[in-house]
Amino acid sequence: MATILVVDDSRTSRRMLIDLLEKNGHSVIGEAVNGQEGFDQYVKLKPDIVTMDITMPEMDGIESLKLIKKSDPNAKVIMITAAGQREKMMEALKYGAADFVSKPFNVNVVLDTIKKLC
Ligand SMILES: [Mg+2]
Repeated sequence: MATILVVDDSRTSRRMLIDLLEKNGHSVIGEAVNGQEGFDQYVKLKPDIVTMDITMPEMDGIESLKLIKKSDPNAKVIMITAAGQREKMMEALKYGAADFVSKPFNVNVVLDTIKKLC
């Protein structure tokens, strides 16, 4: 069981991910709709794991990842990617992303990725 912060501007994506995680024994302790809110929540909640969407308004997932890793180098941030984001994925790796999960979500892939990091 991990405590998880879900950061995504899409309400549907957040709901899907939260349902999937909670049905499988994880505890979603916070959610955020953009990178700034994600960073603020990270500092406040110190979750075991963050799931971070890349494309979001105001502050995207890459910028948020940078802030989180700067404040906590041990932070485990899983980037949520969509088709055609290869360049963004490489950038996220450079800034310390722990792993990637692509949309649409595959339950086993999501759970295995979290298990590897715990
Ligand atoms: Mg998005």
